[in-house]
Amino acid sequence: MDKQGFTTGIVHGDRNVGVEHGGVRQAIHTSVQYGFERVEDLIGVFQGTKKGGFNYARQGTPTTAALERKITSLEQGVGSICFSTGMAAITAVFLTLLRAGDHLVSSKFVFGNTNSLFGTLRTLGVEVTVVDATSAANVANAIKPNTRMVFVETIANPGTQIPDLKGIGELCRERGLAYVVDNTITSPALFLPKTVGASLVINSLTKTIAGHGAALGGAVTDTGLFDWSAYPNIADEYRRSAPKEQGLLQIRKKGLRDMGAALSSEQAHSIAMGAETLALRVAKCSDNALALAKFLEKHEAIGRVFYPGLESHPQYAIAQELFKGASWLLSFELRNADRMIEVVNALKLPIKATGLGDTRTLIIPVAPTIFYEAGPEVRKSMGISDGMLRLSAGIEDTDDLIADFDQALKLAV
Ligand SMILES: *Cc1c(COP(=O)(O)O)cnc(C)c1O
Repeated sequence: MDKQGFTTGIVHGDRNVGVEHGGVRQAIHTSVQYGFERVEDLIGVFQGTKKGGFNYARQGTPTTAALERKITSLEQGVGSICFSTGMAAITAVFLTLLRAGDHLVSSKFVFGNTNSLFGTLRTLGVEVTVVDATSAANVANAIKPNTRMVFVETIANPGTQIPDLKGIGELCRERGLAYVVDNTITSPALFLPKTVGASLVINSLTKTIAGHGAALGGAVTDTGLFDWSAYPNIADEYRRSAPKEQGLLQIRKKGLRDMGAALSSEQAHSIAMGAETLALRVAKCSDNALALAKFLEKHEAIGRVFYPGLESHPQYAIAQELFKGASWLLSFELRNADRMIEVVNALKLPIKATGLGDTRTLIIPVAPTIFYEAGPEVRKSMGISDGMLRLSAGIEDTDDLIADFDQALKLAV
């Protein structure tokens, strides 16, 4: 089965484990409680000796478990846990694996809400240092004796910076640090963080994995590369499991069961349906983003264009080496920021909305919306100018998108 292609695995994977009545898809299991003929089995599920059993839906259902298997297989990991949102997955990782007095090193180019979450971690006594992770040396210089974890995103939103993913992986392996990679913008269709030594992979399922923008979800996947038996923050009760399982076990118990941000079966089903076309959509979205990036780069109304598929991008070589495509995320600046509102309003196809990885092209001015709360200082340090627009390329026909930008940008020349 390992030799199957990516999409074959997604569309046939469910049936490999035997679906009731020969259904070609996993069913939507809405039960909260799960009952047993013999009470020994109920006890076994509680104690973890009966594998694959369910007891209460906050810890998982057959439907969320099917999605977890799908994500594990896409990321070539050893196990995954689904959450109600991507932020819930990230929060669970930080709160269950870090303790007061620990130190986290992160790329400074991260999703705005993740950056805001660092503020909460600091109030709980976790030290957080953010660095320009496009150079692994900056990460190395930030490491201290109490550093436990390094966090990066594959392609940062909105500036599209790419960290030195391989170099940081090496560094984490040498220093015994947990390496957490948020793969949301690339998705497993373009990049497997396991190939650069990631310990845990985060995906916001809300974005390109679902693709339809009709369900929220998040996942954390263990790649199997990290030795949790050497990690100091695993509670004694989870030390009894195999070393590879200890990290995820603690995240499932302390993060999902106790904190409670469980994914519903209905949402899991909806995400799983969207995921069937993941590779096809991502390929088309990446083609559209590249075509638009090339068009915009040559346009007289446009200043800088940020897209890792352009040779002018500082990490173009890394994107070529590691990613199957440069993704659907693209940002650019109007030379004349005063025309921004006019130009965006003149666009007919892109939806003026936040969100990423949708089948429809979405566009948003960055400074007054998603990075408004961050304030001018943080925006400046992240290279976000007042005229910056972020675009999430959809699957529309390429010529239609180019024609639409062509007419709208005439207003800014
Ligand atoms: C959207 C996003 C998240 C959060 O995901 P939600 O499902 O919206 O909570 C985390 N990381 C990145 C890179 C994202 O783009």
